[in-house]
This record gives sequence, C-alpha cells and structure tokens, in this order.
Amino acid sequence: MDLETKALLLSVGTVQVTEPCQEGRASTAGPGAGGQSVFFQSGPHIARLSVVESSPLHLESRPKGTVAILKDGKEIACGRLVEPLLHCPEQAYITVSERCIYDCKFCAVPKLRGGIKSRQKVLQMVEEAARTGHLRAISLTSGVEVSPQHEAERVAGIVRGLKRFGVPIGVSVSPFPGVNRILKDAGADEVKYNLECVDRVLFSRVCPGISYQEIMDALQEAVGIFGRNRVFTNIIVGLGESDETVRQSIDELAENGIIPVLRAAYPHPLRAGEVQIERPSAERLLGLACCLKDALEKSGLEGGRALTGCYRCTGCDLIPGRDL
Ligand code: SF4
Repeated sequence: MDLETKALLLSVGTVQVTEPCQEGRASTAGPGAGGQSVFFQSGPHIARLSVVESSPLHLESRPKGTVAILKDGKEIACGRLVEPLLHCPEQAYITVSERCIYDCKFCAVPKLRGGIKSRQKVLQMVEEAARTGHLRAISLTSGVEVSPQHEAERVAGIVRGLKRFGVPIGVSVSPFPGVNRILKDAGADEVKYNLECVDRVLFSRVCPGISYQEIMDALQEAVGIFGRNRVFTNIIVGLGESDETVRQSIDELAENGIIPVLRAAYPHPLRAGEVQIERPSAERLLGLACCLKDALEKSGLEGGRALTGCYRCTGCDLIPGRDL
C-alpha cells in the first residue's frame, strides 16, 4: 500500500474480520484499551486496526497466507498480518498499571480499573517474549495507581530488572519534577511524556487536574538528559484543536528537540458523551504528517532512529523517517 492508503486506513482505524485470522491479533493498550486489533503490513507500511463488527473496512483472506482490505467491496490494499509479540510486533510493550487516578476524558484506562502488574510479572512477560527470539525493544507505559512519583519509582525498579535483556527500553509515565533523573539512573533509553491535547484551553477541560506546563518542563529537561531523538510526546488529533494550533506545537516541540507522535483520536465507547471526538480524515492526517516531517528535518531530528515505542512500531501513525 502507499502512504495515502495507510492514511485512509488510520483515518478509519477499524476493520471487520469476517473469517478467522487469529494469528495476527493483539489486545489493545492505551486510549483504545480493552479491544482486539490486527497489524496489517503491506509494502513498507504497517497499520494497526481495531477489530470492530461495524467497520466500513473488511479484511479477507487471500491465497498463500496473504490478506486484503476492502472498502465498499473494492480491494484497496493487499498484504499480510503480522503477529505481535506483546501488544505490537518485535516489542514487549507493557502497561504496568492499568488504572489511573486522573480522569482524561478520552482515555478508557480510568474506567477499566484494570490490574497492577508486579515487577515479577513484567519480568516474566518479557522473559517469555525474549524466548521467541523476536524481542527487539521493551516499552513500558503506565497509568497512575497512587501518584506520579510512586509510579515512576516503581517503573524505574522494573527497568533495572529489565536491563539484563540487553535491548533498548522506553518508558512513558506521568511526569513530575525529578522524573528524568529517576528514569535515566534506572537505565531507560527513551522517554515519552504525553501532552495529549495541544490546545491549552481544551487541555484543561479534557485533562483536568494535570499541568500542561509540568509536562513541557519535563520534556525539555529530558532532551538534555536522554539526548536528541530520544524524547517523545503524544499529541491527539481530533479533540477539537485547529490545524494551526497543532502545527505551531509541532514546530515548538521539534525546535526543542522533542519528537511529537500525532495520534488520531479514538472515540472509546466507555467515554461516550464525555468528550467530542472527530476522527481526523486521511487528508488531515497526511497534511499534519508532512508538517511534522518538515519540522523534524528543520531541527535535525530523525524519527527513523527511535529505538522503542510508537516510532519504532509505526502501527498507529504516519511516522516521518519510516512512512514518509
Ligand atoms: S504505534 Fe504505539 S500504540 Fe500503536 S500499536 Fe504500535 S506501539 Fe502500540
């Protein structure tokens, strides 16, 4: 598939699976938590699609282990399903605490009230992933069980235990002053602190009780500690922010050595009525991805050098340095 087709798939974000294609399925972490998804690879691109019965896209088996994606009965892409390792291909991508004291209006994690994985449990999961011979990176993400400080200390302890696997480790937690030193000393290679919504007025509404400035401060400090091409932040597209605001933020972040991940908003059923989400069109995703590519290039940043996380996986986004 070409870049435009990947943008189209991401703008829909879902697919109907009419036949049993079990081998390429994964459970979903993050904002779309709780469902099942497939990783569809075609040519140089890979797209993660949530499996939803009412999706306008259909996945069908083709000969020799290939699959096709159809829209309105017409084949728009042909490829294969990629089996995820833990959540995504080639990575052990683990959500440590599947619950959160915050209440970001687009996120299902606080509603799901999931489990808390112990250090031992995470080490065991990675051990099993490593045994397959396909483990290339570890990414840890976490909600906030007690407080951001408590969470970061706990995740740092887990990172120390994971160093023996000898692969890069990325960490995404809720930041606070001092978080970078804790994670760096533990041995993390990359960090991601999510700004989520770059329209500051909207931010205070959709992320109540969280300080935008504190996240920015942590991101800026992180570049000095972890280095360029090692610091990331998710920006959700589709919460009501304008393209102008997103573009300005992309430029500002890139100038500061921070690499944004542009993530299409996902209207989780558990958040119905709490937040207005307009899934971005393929054209909007493409336009913003081109703007991101230009901004990274202007600042001498290279998405293709990411070691962990979403820039390495590329399933959910149009990634400069990999997709374009
Ligand atoms: S791009 Fe990120 S969130 Fe999406 S499947 Fe890959 S690792 Fe998970």
